[in-house]
Amino acid sequence: MASVQTFHRLHCACGRQCARRNGSSVARRDKFYLNCVNYNVQGARFCEVYLWEDDLDRYTNQRYQSAVDLANYHKTRHERYEEKLNKVYEELKEAYAEIRKLKRTNKALQMALVATAPVAAIVAITSAWVAK
Ligand SMILES: [Zn+2]
Repeated sequence: MASVQTFHRLHCACGRQCARRNGSSVARRDKFYLNCVNYNVQGARFCEVYLWEDDLDRYTNQRYQSAVDLANYHKTRHERYEEKLNKVYEELKEAYAEIRKLKRTNKALQMALVATAPVAAIVAITSAWVAK
């Protein structure tokens, strides 16, 4: 006699929970299947759920493993991009430091130019006067 048990995870299209039963043949006595209580009932047009539990487990495990693989793939990609981004930030920091250094040098040169301008003017005037 087949044992019947409500299987809480699977519902038929009619909305009823599927029952869990073991196979009736000797070879399938240890195997379980899930089906709608209205399976094979005349007039129950949508009640065609009939799944061996180990097939469903295999399918579920494959889907689960696919989801884990996909999550790992995206995690790895994310980490790789984060690494690249950190490198770009480092290069940017170095470039800003170089720009600051160049600005300081430029300012110092301009100040030196302003300081030496009177001397350059005297040299020019003196040269012009000597040349007369
Ligand atoms: Zn049904």
